[in-house]
Amino acid sequence: MGRISLRERINAGLFLLDGAMGTQLIARGVEVGKCNDYLNIESPGTIFDIHRAYLEAGSDAVLTNTFGANKYVLSRHKLGRKAGKINTAGAQIARTAAGEGKYVLGDIGPSGDFLQPLGNLKLGELKDAFARQAKALLAGGVDGFIIETMTALDEMTVAIEAVKSVCKLPVFASLAFDSAGGDYRTMMGVDVEAAVAQIVSLGVDAIGFNCGTVSLAEYVELAGKYVAAIKALQQDTLIYAEPNAGKPELVEDKVVYNVSPEDFAEAAEKIHSAGVNIIGGCCGTSPVHIKAVAKRLKK
Ligand SMILES: [Zn+2]
Repeated sequence: MGRISLRERINAGLFLLDGAMGTQLIARGVEVGKCNDYLNIESPGTIFDIHRAYLEAGSDAVLTNTFGANKYVLSRHKLGRKAGKINTAGAQIARTAAGEGKYVLGDIGPSGDFLQPLGNLKLGELKDAFARQAKALLAGGVDGFIIETMTALDEMTVAIEAVKSVCKLPVFASLAFDSAGGDYRTMMGVDVEAAVAQIVSLGVDAIGFNCGTVSLAEYVELAGKYVAAIKALQQDTLIYAEPNAGKPELVEDKVVYNVSPEDFAEAAEKIHSAGVNIIGGCCGTSPVHIKAVAKRLKK
């Protein structure tokens, strides 16, 4: 009622995503190594509260708690058969939290394996798994999809095609980059230019970067590289950024992120100035980080 479509909304100006889900679950005492996605069934109130915290902090959209809810990842927790239920429940919780005023993106993450011949995945089966996940998310009421933290372009391509085979809703697609002295590549060796050319050719609504192991200054540089790569193709695909709260550091066997909300917001402002209109956070970010970004950018 009255709400413009997600596609119109993202084209209308600055759009804030949420921050990390995993970090917030750990903060609420959920054990590391547990199946976070199953909490949609087991503890929906916890997930709802995290979505609400982000919406109250200023997020225009929340991502469903379904990052690992494809049959491959769920099978490692012996929950493969529950994939449909876990995804639909995740979408319903986010929909309820977002209400009619805010937006919900169905979150799709990598399978954790590689396509043949490098890995064990068969192309048709992988596509079917992503299509089923997308259908189940759709049934729970998402406004669009976000395929994130991918490192292989072939898996990304299959995921985008799978989602598009199910519906015409907006699709966001992002890869996780590492950096070696300003040379940005995914774990699978994909550089920015190759990633942008392939993903833009598939007709997504927004292309981006998230997670990865780079510093905030490097995320800003990465934003500039995305803008340049899209311009070079004479395209105007929207760009989104979900930086981690800085580079992950190992402290006593634990991964920690030490960037303050203010420093995070300062980097977000630079990323926005570079031409990125859709901004959120990945690992280590919290509602406080998103609130700082909203305060700085939503004037
Ligand atoms: Zn992350």
